[in-house]
Amino acid sequence: MATAPELDVAANPLDSFRAEARAWIAANFPPSLKNKDSSLSSLEGPTDLSADEIAWKTAMGDKGWGVPGWPVAYGGGGLDKAQIRVLQEELARAGASNPIGGMGIMMFGPTLLEYGSEAQKQEHILAIAKGDVRWCQGYSEPNAGSDLANVQTFAEDAGDHYIVNGQKTWTSGGQWADKCFALVRTDKSQKHGGISFLLIDMTAPGVEVKPIRMISGQSPFCETFFTNVKVPKENLVGREGQGWEIGTRLLQHERNSLSGGGGASRLFAGKPMGTLAKEYRGADDKGRVPDSDLRMRIVRHEMDSRAFALTLRRAALEAKSNQGPSAATSIMKNVGARITQDRAELSIEIMGMAGLGWEGEGFSEDELTQTRTWLWGKAVSIYGGSTEIQNNIVSKRILGMLDHQ
Ligand SMILES: Cc1cc2nc3c(=O)[nH]c(=O)nc-3n(C[C@H](O)[C@H](O)[C@H](O)COP(=O)(O)OP(=O)(O)OC[C@H]3O[C@@H](n4cnc5c(N)ncnc54)[C@H](O)[C@@H]3O)c2cc1C
Repeated sequence: MATAPELDVAANPLDSFRAEARAWIAANFPPSLKNKDSSLSSLEGPTDLSADEIAWKTAMGDKGWGVPGWPVAYGGGGLDKAQIRVLQEELARAGASNPIGGMGIMMFGPTLLEYGSEAQKQEHILAIAKGDVRWCQGYSEPNAGSDLANVQTFAEDAGDHYIVNGQKTWTSGGQWADKCFALVRTDKSQKHGGISFLLIDMTAPGVEVKPIRMISGQSPFCETFFTNVKVPKENLVGREGQGWEIGTRLLQHERNSLSGGGGASRLFAGKPMGTLAKEYRGADDKGRVPDSDLRMRIVRHEMDSRAFALTLRRAALEAKSNQGPSAATSIMKNVGARITQDRAELSIEIMGMAGLGWEGEGFSEDELTQTRTWLWGKAVSIYGGSTEIQNNIVSKRILGMLDHQ
């Protein structure tokens, strides 16, 4: 491992933490992983880690820095927001990505920390913090998407356990997940109040997953079937009938992550738009993109992106640490989705025919990736709750325009 460059620690109170982080990263981060995304958050395939990836994941898990803001008692780093920021900067500086991610980190862990029993936290949170267990989300059903409270998967009380029957769909990464947090019905006589939040072992007898093949040939999500699946009562989070409250809280954590609350840098991934435009459209005698209308739209997009990233950062700093995300994440999710889709549309427009490749010769890897990114962008305004549903949430819960159910 490399030695850490020297740092003047007297200048700022955070600098001693920065020095500690920099030295620890230099001592533990395998150089072979530099600038490689080694996050377990990828749902695109089974986890097949190299020895260096395992070493990095173990080191980050043991240190608690995979989930730097979680309590130390549950395997987190116990860092405050300013320290987390410094840690992220130091990881980025070293070209190191956080190897611990996924739905356990993004949404299930924070929700269980809030609603879980002590025994549930001991059993699940530590394993999530170490990146040892993959979770999937069993919410959507063929007739319960936007109208999520219509879930029909039924958990029948059988004494010390439930017997679960039903079908989920669009289960991202279901074929690789170890466990599933699911919304199930425990009472058919009431809609919202009949829903419970249940943890289901994906290896239990009666659980079957069928990957859904997309036009791209990939199968990032599945249909999931439960047939007489025995689930111990200890796996109920909260009380029976509290599932809607817990489930919607989890969605706030999900939207917070999706909007970029967990990483606004995503918005700046890839080449700057101006560079891309000059590559494909050339430059005039002043070194500018020749098309003045396109130039204006690029500038507007870059300004929107940067303003949004700053807003996310400010919102994160202002959020009361013990309140976590609120209904306002719906605004962030919608704005983030629009900017992500704008970026993809603008890139394709700039690239012209080169941005419409699917396979075959004549296209670079970057160009083929761009086409897929553009198509994938369509999903951003659907998953985690569609744009229209976020607008409904904003009108009801923030603007108070209608009584919410
Ligand atoms: C890439 C991807 C990954 C996903 N991963 C998961 C996962 O891991 N687990 C999981 O449980 N689900 C997952 N989903 C499902 C996702 O949550 C749903 O697709 C989403 O909630 C919308 O539900 P639906 O597809 O049934 O559409 P519908 O609910 O059928 O909606 C269809 C259209 O009608 C509009 N609409 C519906 N109701 C209203 C209304 N009241 N007012 C205004 N407009 C309305 C919607 O906005 C939408 O445009 C994923 C989806 C995608 C695209």
